[in-house]
Amino acid sequence: MQQKQVADALWSLFDDPTLLPPLGARALLAHLGRAKKYLPLLPLMGKPLGRVLEQHGLTRFDPLMTYLNSVCQITVQASAAEAEAPFALASMDYYFRGARHIEGGIGQLAAALCGAIAQQGGEVRLAEKVTQVRREDDCWVARTRRGEIRARKVLLNLLPQTVAQLLGQSFKALDARAARVEESWGAAMLYVAIPAGLPRHLELVLDPARPFLEGNHLFCSIEGGGTATISTHVRAPREAGPRMPRIHAAMEQTLQALAPAELGRDLRSLTLTASPRTFARFTGRPFGYVGGVPRRAGLRNYRDLLPAEVARDLWLVGDSVFPGQSTLAVALGGVKAAERALR
Ligand SMILES: Cc1cc2nc3c(=O)[nH]c(=O)nc-3n(C[C@H](O)[C@H](O)[C@H](O)COP(=O)(O)OP(=O)(O)OC[C@H]3O[C@@H](n4cnc5c(N)ncnc54)[C@H](O)[C@@H]3O)c2cc1C
Repeated sequence: MQQKQVADALWSLFDDPTLLPPLGARALLAHLGRAKKYLPLLPLMGKPLGRVLEQHGLTRFDPLMTYLNSVCQITVQASAAEAEAPFALASMDYYFRGARHIEGGIGQLAAALCGAIAQQGGEVRLAEKVTQVRREDDCWVARTRRGEIRARKVLLNLLPQTVAQLLGQSFKALDARAARVEESWGAAMLYVAIPAGLPRHLELVLDPARPFLEGNHLFCSIEGGGTATISTHVRAPREAGPRMPRIHAAMEQTLQALAPAELGRDLRSLTLTASPRTFARFTGRPFGYVGGVPRRAGLRNYRDLLPAEVARDLWLVGDSVFPGQSTLAVALGGVKAAERALR
């Protein structure tokens, strides 16, 4: 009952971006009308899910703990014991009401986004890295490898570390966020060529008594009849290099023990690997920090609900900003910052 009340309150918020902060008068009125729905959230805010489970006498029910540890690790990015209760309880419904499969893979979504920008009269320039952002008179100037772009308002879709680097100085709003990014994870991947006809998603846990990290817990997305992308969380990605062979070997062991035979078979000849260093190189994320900031227990989660204006007319967007990680969350945060910038 408690889980359903919390999930109903939070999922409906994310279904309607107008209800997320910053709030206009109409949104405030809508929230007032729904105030009763939010009451179950209040005693849980900032609390760890572990404590709520203890209150219900559930921490020794192993099947539930395995489920919660898996779902919390891939959504809230923390174990069930540490995850902040309201978001952790809502994410229990993730498999039933949150997950969507994009036909043709995530590249289709990227292509659709580029198409939408072009349709609105915008321009997408690929392979044009920004190397510096500076203030000049009343506008911002971005230096790229092909020249300079001037703009009155800028939204930087990057990690706070990269933004500070591009600006050549740190800002208070960036420092706190950058520190939190460094509490997050890297990822190790296996990309496996597979035959058709396998399930679309698998979540595998080899030993529920060990942390749900570094090959012990895998998330596999299977694309039609071509490839499976298989990921696991990597702690302290900055120093992960020497651990990577062991992590990839542990991933193979979990696959071979638990996945359908077609996926676990003949891994070495059909597999490409990736590590935090690969993410750092191909996505430009420092040290390969991926997947957003863990939402561990604590009220600090509620401190940064507004779009992050780093300096005048310059906003930070992306998965280090509320509402956090995932393609949907990043899109919602971007819409909110754009609305603020255009005001
Ligand atoms: C293994 C794994 C699996 C995941 N699975 C899912 C999933 O199934 N569903 C889901 O919703 N989310 C998933 N996520 C999370 C999701 O990928 C992230 O939350 C999301 O990509 C974050 O988006 P972003 O725009 O903040 O950052 P990014 O995706 O990192 O985008 C930033 C962009 O900026 C570009 N860039 C970097 N530096 C520069 C520069 N100097 N100049 C110009 N461009 C630059 C990069 O090339 C990149 O394209 C997964 C993450 C991982 C690691």
